[in-house]
Amino acid sequence: MFSFLYREKKLDIGMVGRYIDSLKELHPITICSLYAVAAGFKPSSVLESINVNCWSQLRRFLEELGICYIYSSTNGPILSCPKELSSEAEVEARNLGLKINVVFEPSKRLRIEVENVLIARDPSILLELYKLYILRAGNEAERTARLGEILGYPKCCIDFFLRCRDPAEARHIYHSELIKRGLESKIPVEFWAVYHTPCTTNCRKTFELGKKYLRAIEEFSTTIYENVIERLSMVHLAWSIGRRYIDYNIVDGEIEEWFTREALRVLGENYTARIASIGRPFIYVYEMGDFPVKLTPETMGIKYVAFKASKGVIVCNPETNETYVCFTEEFFRGRTSYRYLSTVFREYRVILG
Ligand SMILES: [Zn+2]
Repeated sequence: MFSFLYREKKLDIGMVGRYIDSLKELHPITICSLYAVAAGFKPSSVLESINVNCWSQLRRFLEELGICYIYSSTNGPILSCPKELSSEAEVEARNLGLKINVVFEPSKRLRIEVENVLIARDPSILLELYKLYILRAGNEAERTARLGEILGYPKCCIDFFLRCRDPAEARHIYHSELIKRGLESKIPVEFWAVYHTPCTTNCRKTFELGKKYLRAIEEFSTTIYENVIERLSMVHLAWSIGRRYIDYNIVDGEIEEWFTREALRVLGENYTARIASIGRPFIYVYEMGDFPVKLTPETMGIKYVAFKASKGVIVCNPETNETYVCFTEEFFRGRTSYRYLSTVFREYRVILG
């Protein structure tokens, strides 16, 4: 599948080796999206979170793959394109206020990530993605439909999404169907390789897409493939509405009494507690109000996690007793999204095909 890339770009087959450490710092879905664009299974993608320390390596990787990208810099938005831009694309990019092929420091969110890096192989698709996703051009329904198309989502899933009131409702319907069919612990790993919400729990198109993304990674690097599969197969705890998960592996051990007391105070009886080895969040979150959510590099590694379906979740550091997450139904009281809570604060698990 990648042979055309090697021929076309005269790439060294071992090239990926230089980027392995940087790739491993990305969320596995971000890696899937990147390879899917490189292999041509996805016209474009939004890489929502790239660690600042990986930025220069990752830029080089995109350029070697012949991928164009747009990012927000300290000096405005920049379009970087390793291939020649057509004069139309160049004029359009300038009209949109993009600087072309110059290098500036990226804007940094929370000082740890570069957010919303848009990528595509075709510059005209990339410019369209910029207009729809960043500038939010056009009317809502048309924009959403076209965005789904250029992000390479299946038609059935785009139509399903358009029927929903909001993205949180789409995820809620999908989660509800998983629960109803007793599948919440048996989700194929292919469904976790894609970003979009599948229209049904057995959407064939989504499954095939996920499979293609994973195969694209496997053909490129076994090391990255194994790393991605391992992390996609973690437990996914929905900590809020929509597509928000804390990923972890469950670790054996004794939970200390202070945490048991804290979990009981916050969640009441019948909660589930875990010692969890937490993985990289999809995007970093730092909200320290009445309902703290701190999902940063610090949150990764061994933590205590307790949750109760519809009720809430709490995450603490066993070493320092610090609370990283304390997010409960109270947050949603009076909001329309309250109706989605029956599928929140639950674990969703994976089976490998
Ligand atoms: Zn579908």
